Order: sequence, then C-alpha cells, then structure tokens
Amino acid sequence: MIDTHCHLDFPVFDHDRPSLLQQAKESGFEGIIIPAVVQKDWPRVIRLCEQSNLITLNFALGLHPCFVDQHVSVDEAELALNEAVLHSVTGRPVAVGEIGLDYFIDSSEDNRKKQYALFTMQLAVAKKHNLPVLLHVRKAHDEVLKCLRKVRLPKGGIVHAFSGSEQQAAQYCELGFVLGIGGSATYDRAKKLARIIRQVPLESLVLETDAPDIPPAFSRGERNTPLNLPRIAQKIAEIRGVNVAELVQQTSTNAKRVLGL
Ligand SMILES: [Zn+2]
Repeated sequence: MIDTHCHLDFPVFDHDRPSLLQQAKESGFEGIIIPAVVQKDWPRVIRLCEQSNLITLNFALGLHPCFVDQHVSVDEAELALNEAVLHSVTGRPVAVGEIGLDYFIDSSEDNRKKQYALFTMQLAVAKKHNLPVLLHVRKAHDEVLKCLRKVRLPKGGIVHAFSGSEQQAAQYCELGFVLGIGGSATYDRAKKLARIIRQVPLESLVLETDAPDIPPAFSRGERNTPLNLPRIAQKIAEIRGVNVAELVQQTSTNAKRVLGL
C-alpha cells in the first residue's frame, strides 16, 4: 500500500524513523509520499527520500497555506519553487505540495489574500512543469474548485484529507483529482465522509495517514504514524463494502497513476 501523505521528515520522528520504515517495509508498504510545508524544509525532505533504502520515499515541494508567516514574497517563492523543481539532486518531485487554501484557521483578510496569491502561483508552477498537486483545503473547497477550473492542470492531483461535501467530491473527480482518505474515516461520527467513500468511483480514492497529525479513532491522543495505514485501510474497506486487498490494490494503482510513479 502507499501512504500518499505523511510528514515523516518532522522532528517528532527523529528518534524512531528507521524502525518505522523497517516495520512499514515488513507490512508490505510500496511507498510513502512526503510533502514539504515550508521552504526551509525542502532540503530535509529531499535528503530523507534520497537516503531511504528500505522503501521508496517520494517528495513533493510546496508552501502550505497554514504557514504564510513563514513564506517569503510570492515572487521570491515562485523563483525558489521553479529552481527547486528543476534542480533537485534526486530528480523531480512527484508533485507540487502541500499547497491550498485554509479558511478554517482564524485568518485576517491579509492572510487570506497571501494564501490565495501563493496558491495560484503554485498551481501555475505545477502546470508549467506538468506536475500534479497535493491539496490542503479546509472551508474553501468552492474557492479552490474555481481556481482549478481556471488553471486546468493536465495531471490533476490529490485532495488530501478530503473534508468537503458529496457535490464537491464529484466536482474534484470531474477535474481529474482523487480524494485522500485517512484517519478521519475511522470515527463513527464521520457520516458524510462515509457516504462519499461509498459513492465516488473506487478509481478516485487514495490512502493516507497525514502522520503525525489526524490520529485514527483506535489511537486517539497518540502520535499518528504510517504504521496505522493498514488498520485505516481495513476500516475504509468495511465502509465501502469491498475486500481490503482489493481496496489496497486499487488505491495503490490510483496513487501511481496520479503521481506518475
Ligand atoms: Zn500535510
């Protein structure tokens, strides 16, 4: 299986990263995608993926909407992102990400303006380099859909930790996007998400943990790790009413298709 969204580079994994990767390999992981969130972390993410000899780690480069205070101006960021995409020592990133709009965090008009400018710039960079995107979207799905309709990315991408409505899910799928489903699906109160998991085509789902964030219901209050993915997959398969092996196989195929792995 493939964890399409995991922040394995975060310092919270420094003490046991090799052991997590060893166990992930033994549990049959095919790969893990590590999206960067701020520019200063790009080299760390690239280095981690380059050094891994246990399982395939792939990186994405981008500027996360929740950290606008840490990002440079849009023009400087555009130069840096283009440069990083073209000249990463380990080859190209698999996507531009993690990028998006987050209108859930308490944000001023100024903050939202900068989020929007950084987001649309990064969509344009993805299009220029023919890369998919990894999206972080909260309370801003219609805005994001509007931007995606305008830019029309040929490779689409993944809407990570999807939290929108059934209609919004359908609209993303029409635009060639797939939905990242993780720990949120393991909570019994997640009725709307369960309906979406049952309704969208199986070709439109991918698995993720978002570790260390979004701990699943069975490990509430603990650090989330990629090793929770098999149990998350089990729960999603139950909701969907398919065999877990079939779910894992199809979601891996989907991840490879979208990210060109
Ligand atoms: Zn993330």
